[in-house]
Amino acid sequence: MKSLPAMVIVGAGQSGARAAHALRDNGWDGGITLFGNEAVAPYDRPPLSKAVLLGQKTTAQCALYDEAFYREQRIDLRVDAPVQHIDRAARQVVLQNDRRVDYHRLLIATGAAPHRLTLPGATLAGVHYLRTVADAGEIAGELAPGRRIAIIGAGFIGLEVAATAITRGCEVVVIEAAARALMRAVPEVVAAYLVERHRQMGVDIRFAVQVDRILGERRVSGVRLADGTDIACDCVIAGIGVKPRTELAEAAGIDVADGIAVDDTLRTNDPHIFAAGDVCSFPHRLFRRRMRLECWKNAEDHARIVARNMLERGETYSEVPWFWSDQYDMTIQIAGMPAFGVTTAVRETGAASKIFFALDRDGVLVGASGVGNVGDIARDVRVAQALIARRACIEPALLADRNVKLKPLLAAEVI
Ligand SMILES: Cc1cc2nc3c(=O)[nH]c(=O)nc-3n(C[C@H](O)[C@H](O)[C@H](O)COP(=O)(O)OP(=O)(O)OC[C@H]3O[C@@H](n4cnc5c(N)ncnc54)[C@H](O)[C@@H]3O)c2cc1C
Repeated sequence: MKSLPAMVIVGAGQSGARAAHALRDNGWDGGITLFGNEAVAPYDRPPLSKAVLLGQKTTAQCALYDEAFYREQRIDLRVDAPVQHIDRAARQVVLQNDRRVDYHRLLIATGAAPHRLTLPGATLAGVHYLRTVADAGEIAGELAPGRRIAIIGAGFIGLEVAATAITRGCEVVVIEAAARALMRAVPEVVAAYLVERHRQMGVDIRFAVQVDRILGERRVSGVRLADGTDIACDCVIAGIGVKPRTELAEAAGIDVADGIAVDDTLRTNDPHIFAAGDVCSFPHRLFRRRMRLECWKNAEDHARIVARNMLERGETYSEVPWFWSDQYDMTIQIAGMPAFGVTTAVRETGAASKIFFALDRDGVLVGASGVGNVGDIARDVRVAQALIARRACIEPALLADRNVKLKPLLAAEVI
């Protein structure tokens, strides 16, 4: 009997590698081919802005699996092998030199790429973005004590790099066009709490300022703001958001809506093609809207479900989002979608630890952002995640009172 073509995965990143593993775990015995366009095997990106830049971890230590794993699991990992096209009619992916590979089911897990600056001077040496191990290597080379680092963008990447750079003895200025930090991620009160900490550590953070141009001859020497102020610096690191890598899907006529549009089983409008991780937008039952997430746990959870659905299990995806960040000795853990909230209840969970609960217009708990010592916030954020999954309506006063345990609220379903 003729065997089926392989399961093919485009994108050897977090989601792609985990999906390959999950296909085996779920009993797929046929071929699995994983195409990546980086020079290295799949790795974890979160340490790049944290332990790697701090010199506490090497990029090699970020690998998701060792070489033996791919051999033992019969996963044909091809690095430096960008997929150029998808031929849906032939059910093939097309590589450089027009080499073609058949697929039984195809997973697109191409992730996201940093938005690039389009200002004058943006192509000067010393302008960096952080997405890959190669980027992290270049930035690590810039962070010597006394160097002046200008970071454009006060999102999570910008703030994490700011924390790392100042810890390494650099002078750091963060320039943000919006009126505050983390605009898309958390309510203002949470952002203000984090910014306060950065300022205490010596980071110069400026809001509502536009960068007009990057200054320098061949290499960056400064940044000119729209009001004419010049900030001298030795390098620029831009963290101004990412865009999903949808080019392959678009060219193949697959639906795209702020990311490859999948249904709640992560299948595209082509029944043989799925998408997972940062690249896709999916309908979230709980929040009753289509969303695209850019976080590690989503990439992991998607991989687990998509592998099962490539095997026709038909499972729906409805996990409550969960995200974390580390800045200085603070951990930030976010469950749900705090930015969808209109009311905040704040619970002090330790000397320097707080949880900010976000409730929507109907009083439904939609998000919880814990900031501080991991031991003081992790348990409550986990319970909040379960409460969010139940669309619980809880009195803000109960949420704010640290003497009221959250777990019994869950058991009692106080909604
Ligand atoms: C510096 C940094 C720090 C982060 N920190 C955190 C954190 O603290 N907490 C958190 O929750 N999340 C964090 N994230 C986000 C998290 O790492 C991502 O959400 C996750 O990596 C997404 O996984 P993915 O598989 O969708 O995409 P990726 O991991 O980006 O993998 C996609 C892969 O596909 C490849 N590819 C693209 N096009 C092609 C093609 N045509 N052919 C072959 N291969 C292709 C890409 O090069 C890439 O290797 C961080 C991200 C970065 C960059």
